[in-house]
Amino acid sequence: MELTDAQFERYARHLILEEVGDEGQEKLLASKVLCVGAGGLGSPILMYLAAAGIGTLGIIDDDEVDLSNLQRQIVHATASVGKSKAESAAETLARVNPTISVIPYKTRLTAENVGEIFADYDLIVDGTDNFETRYLINDAAYLTGKTVVSGALLRFEGQLTTFRGGVAGHEGEPCYRCLFRDPPPPNTIPRCEEAGILGAVAGVIGTLQATEVLKELMGLGESMSGHLLVFDGLGMTFRKIRYKRSPSCPLCGDAPTITGIAAG
Ligand code: ZN
Repeated sequence: MELTDAQFERYARHLILEEVGDEGQEKLLASKVLCVGAGGLGSPILMYLAAAGIGTLGIIDDDEVDLSNLQRQIVHATASVGKSKAESAAETLARVNPTISVIPYKTRLTAENVGEIFADYDLIVDGTDNFETRYLINDAAYLTGKTVVSGALLRFEGQLTTFRGGVAGHEGEPCYRCLFRDPPPPNTIPRCEEAGILGAVAGVIGTLQATEVLKELMGLGESMSGHLLVFDGLGMTFRKIRYKRSPSCPLCGDAPTITGIAAG
């Protein structure tokens, strides 16, 4: 694939980076990335990935834009209140970069549809705010051999890590269940809706996720696989914690008990 004159101009500041160049940009243009959630994390993730020229960008979200989302969900505008988040985000991205393909899914990611949807993508970015979907993404991505760049938020804090132990060449790298084996009981961990979130903190973590997606796709720098980044916005500190595959992990351990996604 040869870059066009318009692409040379649009992506000029990528192309002059020695580590990116034409080859890196062509990789991005050929990439297919699915962003789960078009909310606080999904907003900066989608804006930067669209601007960067990810060739095919999927957006899955079954929710509608609410006035209380606009404090942090910068991919949506006031005029989009009441509209599907997936469609509202797709409209914004079409204005940011009309030369890429954006596919909105106005549905919830479930055990029934995850296999079919993931099959069309190389990499999954997790911008969800609930544990049920986070474990579903982790398990399905491991079983289908996809990389996941995962983020989470609460109040003034955020976390980021990458999972790719199911991807050929990365066997033995840990998954989310190696860190947190089972989902917490429902409603024991508050969501942003209940506990609050400083809007810009979502921007910090989402932007870092977009950075990690671009690095994974181009094979640049150090991967966050096996590392958990913990951001504290009040103390303005970042901590990077190493973790390993757990031999007792029910998904990627020595005797796995999760060998498929249970539908229904
Ligand atoms: Zn694991």
